Amino acid sequence: MDDLTIDLPTGVRHALGTLTGAGHEAALVGGCVRDLVRGLQPGDWDLTTSAPPEAVAALFPDTTWTNIFGTVTVRLEDDPMEVEVTTYRSESGYTDGRRPDQVTWGTDVAEDLQRRDFTINAMAWVADDLAAGRGHLVDPYGGRQDLAAGLLRAVGDPDRRFTEDALRLLRGARFATTLGLRIEPATEAAMNRLAPTVARLSGERIRDELFRLLAWDGPTAPAFEQMERFGILGEILPELAALRGVEQGKLLGGDALDHSLRAADALPANDPLLRLTGLLHDVGKAPTASGGHFIGHEVVGAQLVEHRLEALALPRADITRATHLVRHHMILYGPEWTDAAVRRFIGRVGPGQPMADLFALRRADTAASAGPEARDAAAAELEARVAALQGSAVLTVGELAVNGSDLMRELNLAPGPEVGRLLD
Ligand code: ATP
Ligand code: MG
Repeated sequence: MDDLTIDLPTGVRHALGTLTGAGHEAALVGGCVRDLVRGLQPGDWDLTTSAPPEAVAALFPDTTWTNIFGTVTVRLEDDPMEVEVTTYRSESGYTDGRRPDQVTWGTDVAEDLQRRDFTINAMAWVADDLAAGRGHLVDPYGGRQDLAAGLLRAVGDPDRRFTEDALRLLRGARFATTLGLRIEPATEAAMNRLAPTVARLSGERIRDELFRLLAWDGPTAPAFEQMERFGILGEILPELAALRGVEQGKLLGGDALDHSLRAADALPANDPLLRLTGLLHDVGKAPTASGGHFIGHEVVGAQLVEHRLEALALPRADITRATHLVRHHMILYGPEWTDAAVRRFIGRVGPGQPMADLFALRRADTAASAGPEARDAAAAELEARVAALQGSAVLTVGELAVNGSDLMRELNLAPGPEVGRLLD
């Protein structure tokens, strides 16, 4: 018996006890069991149960039925947290390579573990003495042993599992990196072979998976490099993959793809959209490369990023935030800039969040070019001047962030006294 004693939050203990007290089976499953086996405290807790969703919903006062696959989100009163409770099930069909044609409720936990992607995710914890947190693992595929050996292995036949759901290819690259695992050879061979099938995934699922990777507080570059080796990267982010071999004379060396991966990792994981922007900020370089220059790459790049993020179904506000930053990431500041020029810069970028984002992106760009210790004196000076001016009022027309040409362009005006009147 594979015993494991754990420190259960009150709410989770309550949820398990409510289900078993009503005569159902209930177990912890998935990522939380993986974390517990590694000796970590899980961030979220998933339960699996023999109770059908209606019965789960009836047992708890505050629930939401999240999807048709029998997942019920339970909010707990005695502990301010949510747990997801999923009914045992088995899946079959998968003719479209992304979702099962048929889902049937299962009768035991082992059957439920069979549908899961990797051995390390296919373990369940069943309580023997709930109050004491004592219990045992149900681990039919040797997930505990694989974790100890540092191996990522598909449950069952890898070719079949990746063919069922191509998202598992992306999840595999993420888990290998975030958990520091080697991919077991048969699993790796299947990932290589089936890489092109990620093209069938919906933009939404790719987006969610990318954000999970980018929200991980550690270097994501190895995951993207692995996706590149498998041939996955060119399917999900072709503009980024196209930066391989685009040479640029940066201090740290490498090509534009190496630079992009470093830029993303120099940005904070708690802002995954900003990290994604860092990853994509130079995608305009492949199409504009000419004689060691990339003239207009920020304009071309902003268009490419807009199309990619639309394909990935990002919310419009996020697309706007990212493309705006890519569009303005080339800061051509020099000390000769007048205050009026700095104000026009503020007018173009926008004060507040966009300005803070732009300088964060710039610092990451510098770190990705010249190393984490590198300092960009010009950007720092501009940032200080922006801060000083943002604190002061506009006193003259010349200090406005807009000038006459801006007004004529934006309002479709012809040159004339009307422009001056508006500026005043
Ligand atoms: P984390 O939440 O840390 O990213 P996790 O393992 O909890 O990792 P979730 O996406 O929360 O991942 O899914 C919970 C569990 O559901 C997984 O551990 C796995 O057993 C199963 N699972 C999730 N997605 C898939 C999938 N596409 N194919 C097969 N099983 C999956
Ligand atoms: Mg999880």
